[in-house]
Amino acid sequence: MDSNQIRTTFLEFFKGKEHLIVPSAPMIVKNDPTLMFTNAGMNQFKDLFLGNSPVRHKRVADSQKCLRVSGKHNDLEEVGHDTYHHTMFEMLGNWSFGDYFKKEAISWAWELLVEVYGLPKDRIYATIFEGSPEEGIDRDNEAYTYWKQFLPEDHILLGNKHDNFWEMGDTGPCGPCSEIHFDLRDDAERAKLDGRELVNAGHHLVIEIWNLVFMQFNRKANGQLEPLPAQHVDTGMGFERLCMVLQGKQSNYDTDVFQPTIQRLAAMAGKTYGKDAKADIAMRVIADHLRAIAFSIADGQLPSNVKAGYVIRRILRRAVRYGYTYLGFNEPFICKLVEGLVQQMGDQFPELRAQQDLITKVIAEEESAFLRTLATGINLMDGVIAKAKEAGKDTISGSDAFLLYDTYGFPIDLIELIAHENGMKVDGDAFSKELQKQKERSRNAAAVDTDDWVELFPISESKFVGYDSLEADVRISRYRRV
Ligand code: ATP
Ligand code: MG
Ligand code: MG
Ligand code: MG
Repeated sequence: MDSNQIRTTFLEFFKGKEHLIVPSAPMIVKNDPTLMFTNAGMNQFKDLFLGNSPVRHKRVADSQKCLRVSGKHNDLEEVGHDTYHHTMFEMLGNWSFGDYFKKEAISWAWELLVEVYGLPKDRIYATIFEGSPEEGIDRDNEAYTYWKQFLPEDHILLGNKHDNFWEMGDTGPCGPCSEIHFDLRDDAERAKLDGRELVNAGHHLVIEIWNLVFMQFNRKANGQLEPLPAQHVDTGMGFERLCMVLQGKQSNYDTDVFQPTIQRLAAMAGKTYGKDAKADIAMRVIADHLRAIAFSIADGQLPSNVKAGYVIRRILRRAVRYGYTYLGFNEPFICKLVEGLVQQMGDQFPELRAQQDLITKVIAEEESAFLRTLATGINLMDGVIAKAKEAGKDTISGSDAFLLYDTYGFPIDLIELIAHENGMKVDGDAFSKELQKQKERSRNAAAVDTDDWVELFPISESKFVGYDSLEADVRISRYRRV
């Protein structure tokens, strides 16, 4: 199945279960002071869960454009280095607003994955909430019972509050969640792990694909939980990850979602994807960031020096610098990838096609502007790093960092990234002081993100540790056997 068929199949499946299919909300959030970007499918339904607006349709499904680059969900540093976290991604979701609950949510998820998409059962794991005695919350035995109809015991794992209990905020709807993980390891690799089931969920090739959240409690202001009068279901499945498992790949970037862009980019750079680790990371970063930037502009957010606009500018400059350093581009190149992206995704996302010219033009201008100072800035940074190393230091001073930021337009996270690549760090406190000092005369105040209005889903503590790291293979999962 190609990715467009995969998306359509999801939506058709839930349409068949009497869900109303709704369009994606914009990725740029304009009317919520606490959230800059949509970071989960449920954002647009916040008021329904809070009971602030009437429920017109009890069952809804969609594919939501999400961006996780700020606030509580910030995956930026993972992107390109691992193969399944993106800045911009699509989250497929189905919702029940006071209608069906765990039984249907779990059995439909299974039906879709196994019977419709044809995924092999023996590679599927589910996690359920282990319970929290101190709060008087039981293990989610209900979810366990439903999973038990489909999965053997050793494929159902217990997860803690961090991974398997979702809260909207300090107060409000909350409840256990159940994640579905898929094992991408090849057979030989799996055979070696006989009797070591605990290593499953949490291994870097056992990937979380779908999160089913069951809202059944209300957290009161005094911290106590009471049952919700109406129970809700909120699910989110990473579309690109689903494409990876269905297309039999071990990396989202090997699917037809990213390959066309990567192949175009490789041809432009005169390189072959898959031959050189650093160039590969750069190609993944650029293929990812292109989408984040293009979709943001299509949604009306241009790169700028403040807030959401600065986040987009930072993403763009990060991509430019990867292309410059690892692929040898010193002329605008990202703008040349827009046309292909629009051809590929314009039918599903007409806003992309409608804004194609603007997107291309804005990216081209941004790229040229940054490329004008990039070379000088990088030379300067090389000099600073060499000098610091000579002096036996491992830190780039606040004033050097500030010069790069202020004069050469290097976002601080880019300076940190280059520093890390050279085994160094940046004196962030001193940088902040310099920034403070200049604040009045410089309008370049870094966009400081407010927190999201909610913790949409618990943020995973697990970190990608690298393919060649032995640790990844022997790491004991944070999930336990039932
Ligand atoms: P992970 O633990 O892999 O970071 P998550 O638990 O943060 O994922 P959720 O908040 O549960 O993710 O979101 C629902 C689904 O969206 C996940 O199961 C995953 O398939 C997908 N997803 C989450 N973050 C990303 C991302 N940065 N890029 C691509 N897909 C993602
Ligand atoms: Mg999750
Ligand atoms: Mg996450
Ligand atoms: Mg997770």
